[in-house]
Amino acid sequence: MGLADVGRSFRGVVPVDRLDRLAPLLASKEGELSVEIAFDLDERRIRTLKGSIRGVVSLVCQRCLGTLQLPLELHFSLGIIGSDDEIARLPEGYEPLLVSGDPMKTFDLVEDEILLAVPSIPTHKGVESCQADHVNQPAPEKENPFAVLGKLKH
Ligand SMILES: [Zn+2]
Repeated sequence: MGLADVGRSFRGVVPVDRLDRLAPLLASKEGELSVEIAFDLDERRIRTLKGSIRGVVSLVCQRCLGTLQLPLELHFSLGIIGSDDEIARLPEGYEPLLVSGDPMKTFDLVEDEILLAVPSIPTHKGVESCQADHVNQPAPEKENPFAVLGKLKH
């Protein structure tokens, strides 16, 4: 389905393994994303689309190289333009989506939005077991006896 389908909508699932450009970041290609996209034509005859993407993608944590589950809850409003000149005509609150030549595919659009949302260097946040070089971990440090003394002083 192309973006020419103004006034239509798309509601369905996009399998993660169909998102080729996301693949290098993924720990697993399992799963599906729920996608809703509604195409419309505003009163100034600007083609617009509003959509949402929900689901979870499994990324590779760049610190511990483990799996990082990233929940996605994305909402976007795009105005479809044929050239940069048309950006000024877009309704407020719409991001420009430049479509020229070949009809754009829904999956490409979904992939673009996800790539924008995914951190360039994904790492676990607030996870203690997330450490670099976890295979060659140094022996745990002995507790500093002075630290105990410090506590007693209080
Ligand atoms: Zn990690």
